[in-house]
Amino acid sequence: MELQEVVNYLAAAAAADAPIDGRERDLMDHLLQDFGATHNEASKLISALPEPFNLTPTIHSLESRENGLKLLRALLVISYCDGTFDAEELPFLEPLVDKFQVRADELRRLKQQALYFLGLRAPSIEIPQELIASGDWDKVCEVAQTQYKNYLRDYQRRFEQELDSADEEACYMALNVGPPTFDTTHARNRFLQGNPDFLHLDDAAGLQMLRDNAEKRLRDRWEAAYSGRCNFCYLEAPGRRRDPCPRCGKEYGEAAHR
Ligand SMILES: [Zn+2]
Repeated sequence: MELQEVVNYLAAAAAADAPIDGRERDLMDHLLQDFGATHNEASKLISALPEPFNLTPTIHSLESRENGLKLLRALLVISYCDGTFDAEELPFLEPLVDKFQVRADELRRLKQQALYFLGLRAPSIEIPQELIASGDWDKVCEVAQTQYKNYLRDYQRRFEQELDSADEEACYMALNVGPPTFDTTHARNRFLQGNPDFLHLDDAAGLQMLRDNAEKRLRDRWEAAYSGRCNFCYLEAPGRRRDPCPRCGKEYGEAAHR
């Protein structure tokens, strides 16, 4: 399989809605490594892409189904990296699904892996501008706390549902920390070190243990993305780290290292 064809395909999808941005380039770099490219090779291929991107992508050299599914998964990463799947990206999905006769359950699994690859992007707490202008800080705190609790409930439900049907690989992907990768070896080794009992369980009990661990990891990471109050002016309004405080405008600080 030609890496050139892979990078062109991903670049065409990334360029479908807006010019290729820095995050997409960075993701493509990691994704190409999943096809065996070194970081150096990936960077070269990406910096040689025409700008604006104007090539018609092809998948002639893509023969094995395994690589077809990999490209589909990479495509889903690019498609979901701005949070939603846009209609412009659909024409890139179809040729792959057709050529490799991808089933709905496979597509669902690939999507799940793509989302874990992207990691978690917790939403900002949004306080209406008029409320901030009114200077009613008790009310601001109340609104922020309500929003935070609602997000927490929604996300916990999402994690539960997602992991309910997750296979072993998807669980290791959810447990992954560090740079985005589809390689689950490291996450698996870490998990086995921390949970030596795992190897003595039967498949169903083992998978349940894995899912529980993955869910806890997602929840912990989600919670760590927020601070309960502003550390500068002590406003008791929860906020996402790095977002500005509605009262003093300083950034909500980074999480303390644990
Ligand atoms: Zn503040």
